Amino acid sequence: MNQANVDYKKESKKVINKLLIASTFINLALTIIKYVLGKWIGNVALQADALHSSLDVLSSVIVFSAMFFSYIKSEKFPFGLYKLENIASSFVSLLIILTAFEIGYSLFEKREPVHTSVLNQIIVAIVLFFIVILMYLYSKYEKKIGTQYSSSGLVSDAEHIKSDLFSIFIIICSIIFSIFGLNIDKYVAIVIVVMILHSGFELLKNSTLALLDINVDKKTIEAIKQEISQFEHVNEITSIKGRKSGRFMLLEIIVKLDIASFEEAHKLSSQIEQRIYEKFPNVDNVIVHYEPIEKKIVKICIPQTKNEQISEDFSNSKSFLIIDYDLSRKKILNKQQKPNDFLELKEKKGIQIALYLVKEGVDIIVTTKHIENTGPYFVFKTHNKKFYVVENVQIDNLEELLKSISNKIYVKQTGEET
Ligand SMILES: [Zn+2]
Repeated sequence: MNQANVDYKKESKKVINKLLIASTFINLALTIIKYVLGKWIGNVALQADALHSSLDVLSSVIVFSAMFFSYIKSEKFPFGLYKLENIASSFVSLLIILTAFEIGYSLFEKREPVHTSVLNQIIVAIVLFFIVILMYLYSKYEKKIGTQYSSSGLVSDAEHIKSDLFSIFIIICSIIFSIFGLNIDKYVAIVIVVMILHSGFELLKNSTLALLDINVDKKTIEAIKQEISQFEHVNEITSIKGRKSGRFMLLEIIVKLDIASFEEAHKLSSQIEQRIYEKFPNVDNVIVHYEPIEKKIVKICIPQTKNEQISEDFSNSKSFLIIDYDLSRKKILNKQQKPNDFLELKEKKGIQIALYLVKEGVDIIVTTKHIENTGPYFVFKTHNKKFYVVENVQIDNLEELLKSISNKIYVKQTGEET
């Protein structure tokens, strides 16, 4: 994990925690207000909703304390304890479902009707109306911050508050009805119970799926794919596996790279990891594995002297022998001798030749001398071509030479250092 990521986590943790604490206190206030007002005008729906709010307080307290512990990473729990959040959510969801049944049951008990004045009912309706407006604004703000920090916890808290507003809204309606002598608060209470049940089951579903290591959602996977495919030399994204842990993701990605050198491939895969940490801040851990593309047929170039031996002087080679070679069957498929058209050039002869060979699709260049840090070397390197240095070799037996080269290539392709 890089520093920016660590900083981000610290900052996001602070903001998210602040808002979650605020939500908890808001729900606590709502519990008290709803209960007192509900008793005052004898509205059972409002009292049921007070119970709902008290459950919300409880669930925030549990989730919050789970999150507090989930930041702890230790040797024993190297992936962190983020899942505590999911476990806590499961418990809370069960509690919510139980309470819903409890409220539903209580609705069918006989109770004394409460006599209240129309004025009191109007006052309660107005108070509730203002609560709806304030809560709506708060949930909007919370959702904005939640999206900004990609905190599913905050976003779902905001969504929850918004959906809770619906019940307050229908309670206001039931109060208005009762002013006109229609007591529908019992039926409204049933609707509220059903809503509580629904949210309980949703929460149970989501937390269970997370505990069962459900893959990261399709949309996120597509976005990750998009990001990776922007890298040159990524030939194929073989697989993206993810796990949810609390509000964080753990990813394992396999890519095929058309890079021969182990060092380069390693560098590129770390670059991909860095990019993912930057673009997806709720990724806690990403591992990019890479595989070379399995090229079965390679183009091998042997620079030649007048006598058709391997040329020591790459730039002044007389000709280039370009061979299509089947690595798996160790067989020459095609052989072409191309004259060196650049012999007369005064400047940058080597580079011109190298560019020409790259254009011809040559994969491997056989030399007798190391050509490190020369012009052609850099051309080949930026195009990820391989070098193969042979010393004191005569091309009497081309087959043998190619066989020995191809053996080394296989070793390199399985990811060994050049
Ligand atoms: Zn609620």
